[in-house]
Amino acid sequence: MNIHEYQAKEIFRSYGVPVPRGYVAFTPDEAVKAAEELGGNLWVVKAQIHAGGRGKAGGVKLARSLDEVREIALQLLGMTLVTHQTGPEGKKVEKVYVEEGADIQKEYYLGMVLDRASEMPVMMASTEGGMEIEEVAAKTPEKIIKVAIDPAIGFQGFHGRKLAFGLGLPKEEIGTFIKFAKALYDVYMDKDANMIEINPLIKTGSGEFIALDAKMGFDDNALYRHPDIQEMRDLSEEDPVEVEAAKYGLSYVNLDGNVGCMVNGAGLAMATMDIIKHEGGEPANFLDVGGGASPETVAKGFELILQDKNVKSIFVNIFGGIVRCDRVANGILEATKITEVNVPVVVRLDGTNADIAADILKNAGIKNIISATDLEDGAKKAVAAAKGEL
Ligand code: ADP
Ligand code: MG
Repeated sequence: MNIHEYQAKEIFRSYGVPVPRGYVAFTPDEAVKAAEELGGNLWVVKAQIHAGGRGKAGGVKLARSLDEVREIALQLLGMTLVTHQTGPEGKKVEKVYVEEGADIQKEYYLGMVLDRASEMPVMMASTEGGMEIEEVAAKTPEKIIKVAIDPAIGFQGFHGRKLAFGLGLPKEEIGTFIKFAKALYDVYMDKDANMIEINPLIKTGSGEFIALDAKMGFDDNALYRHPDIQEMRDLSEEDPVEVEAAKYGLSYVNLDGNVGCMVNGAGLAMATMDIIKHEGGEPANFLDVGGGASPETVAKGFELILQDKNVKSIFVNIFGGIVRCDRVANGILEATKITEVNVPVVVRLDGTNADIAADILKNAGIKNIISATDLEDGAKKAVAAAKGEL
């Protein structure tokens, strides 16, 4: 789960990670009030969406008067912002963050992620602040300094010094930097984050380090420990179909192709998408209906898949281990009664009671159900059906 910049900054603040003062605003009036409250004569109005690249896309603007604050808020609120991270459809801006303008002397990058290779959280720093870090990593990887931090030891001075020396910080700034990095580590660990990105981390004219941007992602499996973080969830930032699927314990990810997939188990779901591609098709989704594929979950699965108007065929690929194939076959028949399934459905059921399942489907005599003998046959037929060749 991800949160907005203003929420991440609120968390940062409570851990002593320095951030500029700011307030979230839902209307231009609130934006002006926020600016008045902040005082001064330079503000930054920032679109709050779950995506980076807002600055380049016109979602972060400087204001030098209260009138300008109002004008910018009016312009940003309600607009659809398209950045390199939102995809072409963009994201609707429903709130802005009004922040005091910072005195930027230098921009850095500082982030933390869970590194699966070292099996540890890793802190990363770079002098290339304000740039896309993916680009820095691809073109000049030597400009990213990394330290893996063993949670059993925690963040130590040497971790901080390695990063600080790598950034070429002068001696008198190292202490301040290490304090910042240590506070960031505490946020990451305490909140069960799996990603924090501060891009840019700035050094001000008076030698302070401040997080000018803040992105945070959390480990969903640990969210139950953090009711305060759960409350920060913004469902309007998430795919409504994925949210609906989660309510039924299904994991669904929408994709761009036209072959709908209904599979049990994440591994088989991945393999199914691979083989569809191998046969020259494009999967329309990832859908894991879980171990207990009941008639209800199968019906819900069809409904979710068919919400996507691009879907031209559905490949049901279920391996009956704990779940028996005959139950799934009945589930499919049940589902076709609950939901109108108007595209060809290729069914491959293998494992426990596969033969009984095949009889059930054959005897039902539903004309858009096509049975497949194995994985390859199923993928071929599903791809052909999507092309209208079956
Ligand atoms: P994004 O990464 O989505 O583009 P940022 O929060 O990094 O959004 O903002 C983009 C740029 O806007 C920053 O790199 C910085 O130069 C400028 N900026 C952001 N916040 C402030 C601020 N409070 N004061 C001055 N400049 C800012
Ligand atoms: Mg940024």
